[in-house]
Amino acid sequence: MDLLALVGGTFATGGALQRRIASYRPRAGQTQMAQAIAEALVSGERLVVQAGTGTGKTFAYLVPLLMSGERVLVSTATKTLQEQLFSRDIPGLLDVLALPTKTAILKGRSSYLCLHRLRLAREASSPLEPRILALLAKIELWSQTTRAGDLSEIQALSEDSEVLPLVSSTRDNCVGSRCQAWQACYVNLARKRALESDLVVINHHLFFADSKVRDSGVAELLPTVQAVVFDEAHHLNDVGVQFIGTRLSSHQLLTFSRELAQEGNKSAPSAESWSLCALDIRREVEKLIASAGRGAGGLRRTWSGNAPEGVSLEQWTAGLQGLCDSLKSAFDALSKHAERSVELRALAERAKRLLALTALFSNCAEEDTTRWLECGGGISLNQAPLTIRQFLLQRMDQAADIGGRRQSWIFTSATLGVDQQLSMFTKTCGLEGARTLRVESPFDFSKQAALFVPPYFPKPNEAQHGASVARFVAQSAEVLGGRTLVLTTTLHSMRTVARGLEAYFLSDSSMKILVQGQAPKHELLHQFSQLGSGGSAYILVASVSFWEGVDVVGDALQLLVIDKLPFAPPDDPLVQARGLQIENSGKNAFKELHLPNAIMGLMQGAGRLIRSEQDQGVLAICDTRLLSMGYGKKILAALPAMRVLTSQEEFDTELLRLTKSSTKDQC
Ligand code: SF4
Repeated sequence: MDLLALVGGTFATGGALQRRIASYRPRAGQTQMAQAIAEALVSGERLVVQAGTGTGKTFAYLVPLLMSGERVLVSTATKTLQEQLFSRDIPGLLDVLALPTKTAILKGRSSYLCLHRLRLAREASSPLEPRILALLAKIELWSQTTRAGDLSEIQALSEDSEVLPLVSSTRDNCVGSRCQAWQACYVNLARKRALESDLVVINHHLFFADSKVRDSGVAELLPTVQAVVFDEAHHLNDVGVQFIGTRLSSHQLLTFSRELAQEGNKSAPSAESWSLCALDIRREVEKLIASAGRGAGGLRRTWSGNAPEGVSLEQWTAGLQGLCDSLKSAFDALSKHAERSVELRALAERAKRLLALTALFSNCAEEDTTRWLECGGGISLNQAPLTIRQFLLQRMDQAADIGGRRQSWIFTSATLGVDQQLSMFTKTCGLEGARTLRVESPFDFSKQAALFVPPYFPKPNEAQHGASVARFVAQSAEVLGGRTLVLTTTLHSMRTVARGLEAYFLSDSSMKILVQGQAPKHELLHQFSQLGSGGSAYILVASVSFWEGVDVVGDALQLLVIDKLPFAPPDDPLVQARGLQIENSGKNAFKELHLPNAIMGLMQGAGRLIRSEQDQGVLAICDTRLLSMGYGKKILAALPAMRVLTSQEEFDTELLRLTKSSTKDQC
């Protein structure tokens, strides 16, 4: 039987999925998507699929991939999604389909224990804090039993633990084949396992990580697979430009200077003034940071001339020159003694790379790239292309034919574009010639959801807007008994709304206000989903990171409030540069870039409300531009076809109806 028929049969009534999974029921959109993917696999096509919420897109691509028996690569947006695919979805499906497919997960090198650096940490000459020593002891113990060396196996280690850089490697500090632990190295073992497997799960960061230097293992994998599938593909461009681009950070430089002093004094004591050399670099970095000025976390300064905007050209140029000089001295000293240890040789290579990067940022930006400076606690100098188009085209063409057959490239997400050609996505990725498919959500939005734009509301840029959102949310959540998620476009708005809600419910201890940042995302969502446990009602207030990856099924979420339309900040250097490029080609940047991006963002956020065929709820968007501006109609038309509530009275009635129809009240 051919692949198309096999896949069709698996998704059909009475097929393997229905026989083995109690909750499964055939969905036309899911079958359509799975068959399109099977066709793409057979013909070596490039396929872009937008699959509406509830389509079941993960199974729709996994089933044909697994049944094809081909070697394939699947990439998703985050490590969490990667884990879900590898540990939950794929093993479950392999069991249902009774297939022996060999699978592997491959992460970036910082996810794995570096045995060499663990030894260095153990032998550190300067005393470590007791807290760090306790964590190192845990890692030592775990290292004796782990098979994969994946540091996320250690529950006690948070993702931002300060001990991680001590026990994991970077391309800069890995000593490569000169390493004593080369054979047992977990990074090498993970790459070897990936090369021996039929299906490998990676993440988008890793896919782009070896764009300049082959350091992720993906470059070796790519020519060996018959198909590459990107899930959550709407993230590709933003992730890609970060990696294709070039970055030099104060953190990188300060880490280098610290390790230079440590290693120099250990491997070649008194041969050079290592501490002085390191101090010189540190001083130059501090001068550069001072000339850039401290910014609120993540402030991005446009950099179109010789210095970033708002930074003195004289100080900036002198700062970069001073840094070049200090790195050159370090490089000369390291080169003289490189034969004394593998670490000194690796440091010499690192000094050379840092010197080259500093020289690059001392000159004008390369063509078709944009530059910006990020300021927070430290600084980072960035240069990136505006899109991943050229990079992706090259990658797709390089690996086009595997054993005489064309390689398939498949891209999927719930939000890729508003037109049939999904042109917003395909243009940035060089996929204009690809086949596109839009699969509509199986949910009946006209019955399950309603949309309300409060007509008498302060404009989004007016000072009282945040306080008005808080009042609107408070009064609505009182009726519903919590069950409300508020998504804001900025952290500032999030704090304003949260403060307003806390003040409103000061004397009502039964209404709990959960705010992003109070606890890890999964914990907040877990608490929010425990509808009414212990007699509490919940309002969850969050910003950008909750516009995606929030899957609260059932009555715990019945009202979703979005504070403003998610237009990108106009002063973001990348947004500015992309807009300028569009204007220079004679087109309108608002129509071509800013509006479609805002629509995609809004669709992502709005997609949090209805997560199953039983869910019911209201989406309220507190932005009157939807009613007053010409583009408002276009945005509303892109949202799922919900019932529209036109007055506060209709909205109040809908909330009351929801309280009556909720399963909680029926119990
Ligand atoms: S080869 Fe590199 S990553 Fe592997 S143990 Fe050695 S230094 Fe660490």
